Amino acid sequence: MPTIISHSVVAVSSAYGFRSGKISLKFWILSIACSILPDADVIGYRWLYIPSYDFFGHRGFFHSPFFAALLSVIIVFIFYRKEGIFSKQWWKYVLYFFILAASHGILDALTNGGNGIALLSPFTNERYFFPWTPIEVSPLSIKAFLSQRGLTVLKSELLWIWVPAFLIIAFLKIKERPSFHNK
Ligand SMILES: [Zn+2]
Repeated sequence: MPTIISHSVVAVSSAYGFRSGKISLKFWILSIACSILPDADVIGYRWLYIPSYDFFGHRGFFHSPFFAALLSVIIVFIFYRKEGIFSKQWWKYVLYFFILAASHGILDALTNGGNGIALLSPFTNERYFFPWTPIEVSPLSIKAFLSQRGLTVLKSELLWIWVPAFLIIAFLKIKERPSFHNK
């Protein structure tokens, strides 16, 4: 995985893209949660001894766009009840949270190590990487991350995730085109 910090950076730039003006705390929390939630499968790997290549293993079902779709519908259903189901605004929220949750697996598939990502789960548990994997894979243990390896990972994430994300934010700030009202 890229680190959860980098997944969160994606969430922050997406939130800016989706909303203008003041962004509510609820929206921030949901955005960041959505972008890092797929890595909760590490719990299964660490404490429940679910093998990585299992359906629910690390980088398995929870890293798939299918799960991202489920998650986004559940989030909007619970937290944006005021939006009429299937209304235009409802779809916008679903699409937004879907893209965020799906971005996690996509970014992981751009990393150069660990298991591949089950991008087509639940239809197949086949694991994939993109042909181009510029992002250094982050170790799962914090101890390993605090070593020289962590520095290499951070450098590559800065270059491939943070810089593009902040360029997007800067671009949006300059453009200042309000498209949503805050709730
Ligand atoms: Zn991940």
